[in-house]
Amino acid sequence: MISTRPTVAEIDLNSIGYNVRQFKHNSSDAELMAVIKADGYGHGAIEVAWEAIKNGATWLGVATAKEGIQLRRAGFKTPILVLGGITPEEIIDCSYNDIDVAVYGKNFIGQLDGYSNIFRKPLNIHLKIDTGMHRIGVLPEDLDAFVKELGNRKYINTRGIFTHFPNAAGDEEFSNQQLAEFADCVNLTEKVLGEIPYKHTANSAAAVNLIGSHFNLVRVGLGLYGYHDEIWLGEKLEIRPALTWKTKVTSTREIKLGNRVGYGRTYLVNRDSRIATIPIGYADGYKRILSNNGFVLIKGQRARIAGRVCMDQTMVDITDIPDVVEGDEVVLIGKQGDEEISMYEMCEWADTIPNDILVSIKERVDRTYIHKID
Ligand SMILES: *Cc1c(COP(=O)(O)O)cnc(C)c1O
Repeated sequence: MISTRPTVAEIDLNSIGYNVRQFKHNSSDAELMAVIKADGYGHGAIEVAWEAIKNGATWLGVATAKEGIQLRRAGFKTPILVLGGITPEEIIDCSYNDIDVAVYGKNFIGQLDGYSNIFRKPLNIHLKIDTGMHRIGVLPEDLDAFVKELGNRKYINTRGIFTHFPNAAGDEEFSNQQLAEFADCVNLTEKVLGEIPYKHTANSAAAVNLIGSHFNLVRVGLGLYGYHDEIWLGEKLEIRPALTWKTKVTSTREIKLGNRVGYGRTYLVNRDSRIATIPIGYADGYKRILSNNGFVLIKGQRARIAGRVCMDQTMVDITDIPDVVEGDEVVLIGKQGDEEISMYEMCEWADTIPNDILVSIKERVDRTYIHKID
């Protein structure tokens, strides 16, 4: 690390370990895939992968071939599945690095033919079925022909078959229809190809909310980091947020009634006020929509965001918080004293979901790790 900036995302790896164990316990005999795409939802893919494996994860899920290769280079021997698509150019890298890939396109199988002579062993694929997400996947009506294509090719090993839920927490009826359709698709596929070792459908929300979705592998992303799609799922499975996002006050000033703060002069003070400046802005991933519309914690109390979030700095109103000085800790998400700004609260202010907040936290915000050995 070149320097230490006060603006950091502090990740409690013990919480990640705890969450993995909670999901493992909840999923009976199924194996657990730790989904660590997008740099572990912004938490650091390598650190999260290491902690997840230590606590029982036996698969790693990523979005792209490059993310998978980076994990192999870091030394992980665990099975890795690329959940999204890969290009023909990436086929070789996946084969050489022993990375499983999702397959759903006939064209892609044709492209594999071109590489078949250099595979050292069959390429492991997981057949993606589109049961209602309508993003990627073979449609059930096309499956018969698709599977017959696969069956002809000796250099392909169909190691898994899977599908994905668009609304596992909010629409059980639709999700159960998807499960029924998936079961039919598995039957059809196994009639042609024989038994497929891994069948998987559950993301975090399904793992908690749809017992019938577990099969022998669950793919847990958001839940690993301590958040649910819907807060009420927390009553079904208790998990712990791993992230605290924080910084320190860089400057304070007193301004008189009638002054306005920040770009566009949008925050009018209607009394003599104190303002603190903090070194975080939208270039750190602190969303600009939070302008005049969110709070931070200082000395265990809430301070309103005063005016527009700038690219690198933000001002907050500390008039009601005595004795704030330069260097005082500021919490953007997390606990301080008896107060908390939860991820869910920030999502309401920013009109978005935890995943979006997490992956928006930029690289220039150093990740620091807490890891207590107990
Ligand atoms: C991202 C992803 C997951 C993990 O979803 P969460 O809701 O974060 O648990 C599972 N499966 C697929 C195909 C995904 O793309």
